[in-house]
Amino acid sequence: MLNKCVNSVQSRLPQACALCGARAIGAALCPGCLADLPWLPPAHCPQCARPTPEGALCGHCLHDPPAFVRTRACLLYGPPLDGLIQQFKYGKDIHLAHFFATRLAPHLANTRAELILPMPLHPERIGERGFNQAVEIARPLARHLGLPLLINAAQRQRNTPAQAGLDHDARLKNIKGAFTCDARVAGKRVALFDDVMTTGASLNELARTVLAAGAVEVEAWVVARTP
Ligand SMILES: [Zn+2]
Ligand SMILES: [Zn+2]
Repeated sequence: MLNKCVNSVQSRLPQACALCGARAIGAALCPGCLADLPWLPPAHCPQCARPTPEGALCGHCLHDPPAFVRTRACLLYGPPLDGLIQQFKYGKDIHLAHFFATRLAPHLANTRAELILPMPLHPERIGERGFNQAVEIARPLARHLGLPLLINAAQRQRNTPAQAGLDHDARLKNIKGAFTCDARVAGKRVALFDDVMTTGASLNELARTVLAAGAVEVEAWVVARTP
């Protein structure tokens, strides 16, 4: 039913730029706002997408590497993108799912991933929000790439407090053991998908869970990376 709802929103093409309100028939953003988005610099850590000089591996990944082998992202999380993602997350501009998927797709060329697994939300959180924002963006992405989307393979066991507002150590503790994953990932190269990577603690924990369930390799795909 949600799928139908999203499709019907997409078919009613937006008439105005979601950021400045200028006329933008059939496009989420006007050309000016699109150009002004904080695009991820080409020089970034291959493993976690943090901007680094000459695209070297960052200090965090050198000393305490995450369980995912690489991260693919297209934007940096900051103004005005943060506002746009909030509009989308709280259901105001759900057609932005398609926009985000379209922007990320060119960064996924040559992926070895065989399936996409979106970051699960706890059922209570889905109940409050009405949808899982990661699933809504991953759906058009999976269609575009011709990859299967595994929506219920991973589950969030605990309704953990939101990671926002917690420091790095608190995030790690908050998320530890939060996920389970079934055997459908066994023997597969898996792309985990989330809208934003902040410290990467949630994606790292999900990657560990998916590897423990038998996946052979895990990548992280996100729309935006917090610098
Ligand atoms: Zn605009
Ligand atoms: Zn890194």
